[in-house]
Amino acid sequence: MAELEIINVSKTFGQSKVIDNVSLTVGAKEFVVFLGPSGCGKSTLLRMIAGLETVDEGEIRIGGKRVDALPPGERGVAMVFQHYALYPHMTVRENMSFGLRNVKIAPAEIDRRVAAAAKMLEIEHLLQRKPAQISGGQRQRVAIGRAIVKEPHLFLFDEPLSNLDAALRVRTRLEIAQLHQRVDAAMIFVTHDQIEAMTLAHRIVVMNNQRIEQIGTPMEVYSRPATAFVAGFVGTPC
Ligand code: ADP
Ligand code: MG
Repeated sequence: MAELEIINVSKTFGQSKVIDNVSLTVGAKEFVVFLGPSGCGKSTLLRMIAGLETVDEGEIRIGGKRVDALPPGERGVAMVFQHYALYPHMTVRENMSFGLRNVKIAPAEIDRRVAAAAKMLEIEHLLQRKPAQISGGQRQRVAIGRAIVKEPHLFLFDEPLSNLDAALRVRTRLEIAQLHQRVDAAMIFVTHDQIEAMTLAHRIVVMNNQRIEQIGTPMEVYSRPATAFVAGFVGTPC
């Protein structure tokens, strides 16, 4: 069954159309990467799925249910941002559990989920610290932990590796791949980096100029690019 359906979705900011009639289906447990240059609309599309931007035209369905009028907390998704977006005044533990407070989950269950996620991400020793007292890589693990504890069926990652140094980028990329093996969820991962896309994706959605240029497996977009743009963008070594 499809976890996510995007049907003829468009979005305009002021005078400029930033998503132009995009349609896409993501399967349960699928790992899909949105790949494209800066400004092509990747984040806007992801934010519409999350409910952080409204949809001007078209429909978004998650788990078969239409969600484009629902608030973010009722969509069953969790998002990880490039800039972590942690609350500076809260401890790591509080940051991870904060999103669960409004959804009527028993405190013991919240503690269990936070403990399990902290163990998986090897941040158990940081739970009492504030974001300013941990490194950038650790902050991104906390942000990933905050997503995990929601037990979503759809994870949304917006360039989560961009602020990390090269070694941490590889490590965190592998951890996200491992996380995908462990959880019963689909993942959408936004990046402008071909290597990340090639190594993580079941399917890559290549975007350019507000539209989808091609959807295919890494092998398909690499060896059979559908457009000159895809050939140039995916084929260019970095
Ligand atoms: P990407 O994530 O691919 O770099 P974005 O989705 O962030 O692209 O942006 C797509 C286009 O929409 C860009 O031209 C950007 O400047 C514009 N844009 C994004 N968010 C807003 C906003 N809130 N208001 C006006 N324009 C925006
Ligand atoms: Mg972006």
